[in-house]
Amino acid sequence: MLKPGLMMDRPLLLSGILEHAATQFGGQEVVSRETHGPLFRYTYADCAKRSRQLANALHGLNLKEGSVVGSIAWNNHRHLEAYYAVSGSGMVMHTCNPRLHPQQLIYIINHAEDEVVLFDITFAPLVKGIAAHCPKVRAWVCLTERAHMPEIEGVAHVLCYDELIAAASDVFEWPDFDERSAAAICYTSGTTGNPKGAMYSHRAIVINALSGCLPSVLNLSPEQAILPVVPMFHINAWCIPYAAPIAGAKLVLPGPKLDGASLYELMESEKVTISAGVPTIWMALIQHVEQNKLRFSTMKCTAVGGSAMPTALIAKFNDDFGVEVRHGWGMTETTAVATMSSMTPNERAMSSADRHALVGKQGRSVFGVDIKVVDEAGHTLPRDGSSQGELMVRGQWIISGYYKGEQSPLVNGWFPTGDIATIDAQGVMQIRDRTKDVIKTGGEWISSIDLENAAIAHPAVAMAAVIGVKHPKWDERPLMFVVRKPGQTVEKEEILSFLEGRVAKWWVPDDVIFLESLPVGGTGKVQKADLRKTYGGVFS
Ligand code: AMP
Repeated sequence: MLKPGLMMDRPLLLSGILEHAATQFGGQEVVSRETHGPLFRYTYADCAKRSRQLANALHGLNLKEGSVVGSIAWNNHRHLEAYYAVSGSGMVMHTCNPRLHPQQLIYIINHAEDEVVLFDITFAPLVKGIAAHCPKVRAWVCLTERAHMPEIEGVAHVLCYDELIAAASDVFEWPDFDERSAAAICYTSGTTGNPKGAMYSHRAIVINALSGCLPSVLNLSPEQAILPVVPMFHINAWCIPYAAPIAGAKLVLPGPKLDGASLYELMESEKVTISAGVPTIWMALIQHVEQNKLRFSTMKCTAVGGSAMPTALIAKFNDDFGVEVRHGWGMTETTAVATMSSMTPNERAMSSADRHALVGKQGRSVFGVDIKVVDEAGHTLPRDGSSQGELMVRGQWIISGYYKGEQSPLVNGWFPTGDIATIDAQGVMQIRDRTKDVIKTGGEWISSIDLENAAIAHPAVAMAAVIGVKHPKWDERPLMFVVRKPGQTVEKEEILSFLEGRVAKWWVPDDVIFLESLPVGGTGKVQKADLRKTYGGVFS
């Protein structure tokens, strides 16, 4: 018979993270770009104090345990305070993606039953447009001080955040409750159907944040300064706002200024050592740095995910700038990062081309996440690096169902991700495509990710995307979109012959269309659905 362990049963709660940072790393800095421009600087101790004030203020607005508080906000210190005040008092933090279509925004606010919504001044016009359609929202709180309060005609109950908390006590006893209770909810940014809510428990977030600190994941410690570019409105900024205070790392929040020049400046001025974001952000940053012949003085590592990081960019960061790339994979349904590239000594000793190719894959599963790939009948495929099928995941921070969802998405206890992947004998997973993006031609599959990766290696190409277009003979054929680097004049023939040496002949796209920019969605990913809508006719 099993013997019971004799350890205390203390719940894993987010309030514990905040108070840990406030007491153990009270003087460590949090630096935040205000939406109206300047940098704001304070400490974890100050952050905890203002979070307690906000918790009192929220109770003053008649919110209770289980109430849902929405946010439409950038990565900034007030948003951080809300993360802790809302969840820490047993309420649910609903981070809304401001770049969703207003109809979808209305849908998620009503579906989650937000009672109060916190918003940045940038989003005042958005609030003006949606407020009348969100009947359950009793107050709209603008995340600013009185001097910068926007005029929002026709919206009742608009409050000023700084005034709201100034009137509240900073003494607040965080309640204890079941760690399985909901702490936050984030809706998928699906392009078809209504968004679906992933409801994260305290337990899931704390365990995920702990693993995020690991040397093989983000390697956080009090000596690190981390800048999450990945938005706090989507998948909790990959749980970095929870991991950094656990580790006592300095936290640098970029606010709305996400262009290459602003990020570079912030990285340099705040001595940032590690950052995290989607590839499109890094493309813009590297362009700025190259064009202006700049160097990174403190940046050592960048964590990338959300879509595939091209190998050419990995090589550039590593070889030209001495910045190591950590390539991770995760989705709204996995709380944050579920797999991450990390290297054993043998792998580190490989040639640089082999190392970059390895980092181009999405890495090993983080402790706590099991992964497998299955064929269409659901049979597990071998870990041979070439058998590809749907990636399935399970673990303590993977959803078991969607909020108010009627049917469980799970298949025999595993979550089907909709991604096509391979896993090799060393456990390294590689995303080959999204099920809906893979190009089916003559009964074979072409990975759009691999094609994009190959095109990005051309020195004149800034960005590339590939979609499948209907073809009378082959079912589908690849169509490539290219954004040239500024001042470059590369043409279709050159791109195609460049690709010919790098991919199988039958993979070479049937056409290349040059665009000024690619449509990028709310989370910084290229919107292939938009490209398909505009260009997805029929090849003859
Ligand atoms: P979302 O839930 O909106 O963050 O989207 C999750 C999806 O983004 C995953 O299912 C993948 O299709 C894609 N994704 C995330 N990380 C990566 C990555 N490193 N490489 C390729 N695709 C990724």
